[in-house]
Amino acid sequence: MLRWSIATVSMGGTLESKLAAAGRAGFRAIEIFENDLTFFNGRPRDVRARAQDLGLDIIALQPMRDFEGMPEPMRARNFERAQRKFDLMEELGTRALCICSSVAEDASGDFDVLAKDLGDLADLAAQRGFSIGYEALAWGKHVRDWMQAWEIVRKADRPNLGIVLDSYHICVRKNPLAPIAEIPASKIALVQIADAPDILMDPMSLSRHHRCFPGQGGYPMRDFMAACLATGYDGPLSLEIFNDQFRGAPAPQIARDGMRALQALGESIDTLRAERGERPLSIGQPLPAPPVIDGIEFIEFVTGNAEAARLTSLLEALGFARVGHHRSKDVDLWRQNDLNIVVNREQDGFAHSFYLLHGTSVCALALRFDDPKRALDRANALGAPTYYGRVGPGEASIPAVGGVENSLVYYMPRPPKDGSTPSNWDRDFVFDGAREHPGPLNAIDHMSNVLRRSEFLSWVTFYKSVLGFVDEPQVELADPYGAFYSRVLGSPDKSVRIPMNIGDGGATTVSRFIDTFGGSGVQQIAFSTNDLFAFVEKARANGMDFLAIPENYYEDLEARYDIAPDRLAKMRELGILYDRVKGGEFLHVYTKMFDERFFFEIVERHDYDLFGAANTPVRLAAQMNELDEAMRQRTLGAM
Ligand code: MG
Repeated sequence: MLRWSIATVSMGGTLESKLAAAGRAGFRAIEIFENDLTFFNGRPRDVRARAQDLGLDIIALQPMRDFEGMPEPMRARNFERAQRKFDLMEELGTRALCICSSVAEDASGDFDVLAKDLGDLADLAAQRGFSIGYEALAWGKHVRDWMQAWEIVRKADRPNLGIVLDSYHICVRKNPLAPIAEIPASKIALVQIADAPDILMDPMSLSRHHRCFPGQGGYPMRDFMAACLATGYDGPLSLEIFNDQFRGAPAPQIARDGMRALQALGESIDTLRAERGERPLSIGQPLPAPPVIDGIEFIEFVTGNAEAARLTSLLEALGFARVGHHRSKDVDLWRQNDLNIVVNREQDGFAHSFYLLHGTSVCALALRFDDPKRALDRANALGAPTYYGRVGPGEASIPAVGGVENSLVYYMPRPPKDGSTPSNWDRDFVFDGAREHPGPLNAIDHMSNVLRRSEFLSWVTFYKSVLGFVDEPQVELADPYGAFYSRVLGSPDKSVRIPMNIGDGGATTVSRFIDTFGGSGVQQIAFSTNDLFAFVEKARANGMDFLAIPENYYEDLEARYDIAPDRLAKMRELGILYDRVKGGEFLHVYTKMFDERFFFEIVERHDYDLFGAANTPVRLAAQMNELDEAMRQRTLGAM
């Protein structure tokens, strides 16, 4: 039966905690990595009993290394070693042993010899009712590609010997995927699933440290799986991930993320099969269809009495006006055009706890869904439970799920296009006067998250599987104190775009943000305007502070592009940054940081779809100066 499995090597912690995490996340099968038994405080039969209690089938023991092609006396010793593994398998109650291709210097490269060794091993295994799976390691001495492993398995020709197809080894070697479909299903011992970033790195280091769940990396996981399943294979599909971050994270989180990633992969395969007119495989429970999200209904800030006035004067300078106050809570609604910002100053409940942990910050984001109920059902099916906040009598209750650093993602219905029944989430607000307020900003262009490296991939999977977001290209950027990475995820129609930035430790601005903020979060909100020059001139006249851009930047701009001198002079005067790609133009400006936690960006786009990455190092350097200056002021204040 097709079912999701996970190799214990994918998680950190004790074997007991890995088994429990896998069972709780909904896995029904598990591969036992032999090293995990070494540290297990009990007998292998106890592992078997524990797995049984959790409904987990132990599908394989892995791996046996450097088995085939070895000269005597090593060959004889390997067969003795195999007998001991069979004894262990008996006690574990598993029927399959995985062998990965030899890396030993003195291993033979003669495929007849390799086939003979594997054939003899299969015969020995057959006496005890076991089967053998043979896997090509990408860095094997002689056998590196699945086609070679398959040739050897065919040569050996034993009913209980099959090939192990591991997407990592196959994709890192850029092996052809389509011909996998020609392998008879009965000759596939196991399918192992691992994605990885599609970067140039030696396959062994990449494999040992950077494997990741499907959808987190850049490999063609769907095509790989489609080819495997086209054979008619109906055994376990097993995650086998070696990743230092995963092993350092709590096992329940990793198991949940792995299951989420597999559920999304299974869905993508069924979508592909539907396009081809084939029946869905529905491995596990089918998911409600991905949500269609068409924008951000509101952003919620939490603040305290000490900082509220500074936050609201910043909002005013951006063109927002307070239009209403919540009936029963200390919450204000700020608005301009279709943009809504909710400012929460409650002294208890979720927002206040968030404030105590993080200070003034974005604590929630309300997204607009085509069908919030279906979207929540999907979130729940993917292990993201619904959260309901406290509401007063007769007030609207907006369901949410947990986002980055326990912030909330509210599930709002999107307003109908014909304007027939306006979305009325704001009915709990008492309006001071006009509900509408015109202003210079017309849309939320994007919002960026800064994340600890250790949790970055987890949020990639959340956004992609739960919210149906897709990837935009990944970039690596220079920070004055190190590199940082950025990956952009967003709704397919780009109405919501979230660049995710990871600081790689050290003193990068991203890392410093994480330190100050006390965790990951929203660092930047970018609004768009039709006339950035007019916006900045007016805002400056109203006393708004923008990030100071060094003079050299404009010298460089002048050298790179032919910008009209008076336009360039204006940019310089106003601190406006500029980028141009294929005739498209991007003008943008940054506010100074608020309490070193977040800042706003205001952008003007003309046939330009990127984020001005060329200017990011300039922004980071300028912000670093700002942070250093703030630190100097604090030190002086303390003296
Ligand atoms: Mg493998």
